Amino acid sequence: MFLSLHSLFDAVYSLLKHKIHRLPVIDPESGNVLHILTHKRILKFLHIFGAAVPKPRFLKMQIQDAGIGTFTDVATVSQTATVYDALSVFVERRVSALPVVDDDGKVVALYSRFDVINLAAQKTYNNLSMSMQEAMRRRRCYVEGVIKCYPDETLETVIARIVKAEVHRLVLVDRDDMVRGIISLSDLLQAIVLSPAGIDALFS
Ligand code: AMP
Repeated sequence: MFLSLHSLFDAVYSLLKHKIHRLPVIDPESGNVLHILTHKRILKFLHIFGAAVPKPRFLKMQIQDAGIGTFTDVATVSQTATVYDALSVFVERRVSALPVVDDDGKVVALYSRFDVINLAAQKTYNNLSMSMQEAMRRRRCYVEGVIKCYPDETLETVIARIVKAEVHRLVLVDRDDMVRGIISLSDLLQAIVLSPAGIDALFS
């Protein structure tokens, strides 16, 4: 999937419709890749640009009322589970990251598809029986930390946090740190860009 001479709207549409996280922008004449568009870059642009225009009223809504994100059947993995278990969840659920929870169900970390790729880089793919706790301890490269948000926070606050933290998703937790949902850049772009144009969720 490539993008050339299309609008930002088309880019958001393609990212969400095809459930991809990167979209190369190509020069129509040379066919060269000019740069790569991501959800992160687009939301950051909208966040900065949005400061100059009147804010839509729904940004003041609390997450629990706005219904933006996934709140049921959130795929998680226990910190005592094995890496193999986590890989199985990735395959079955086709999600891009799993909140890692302790024995009480409280979120302690985030394990993403990027971490899975690093298993190969670190040559640890032949030790898939290692616990998630151990796997996370061994992570050496860039780690997307677990950044949280709460049901009574506004959409505006959540967008500012996800842009500042430069992560792909926030884990929605209650005041006891129990996982209640996931709010990903896909959910936010759907709500800010596609839904107002009458395009319903493309990735549910
Ligand atoms: P993403 O792949 O992060 O862009 O998200 C695509 C959709 O999957 C969004 O609606 C997310 O809320 C949802 N999602 C992401 N991670 C999970 C998860 N661990 N469990 C359930 N849904 C998720």
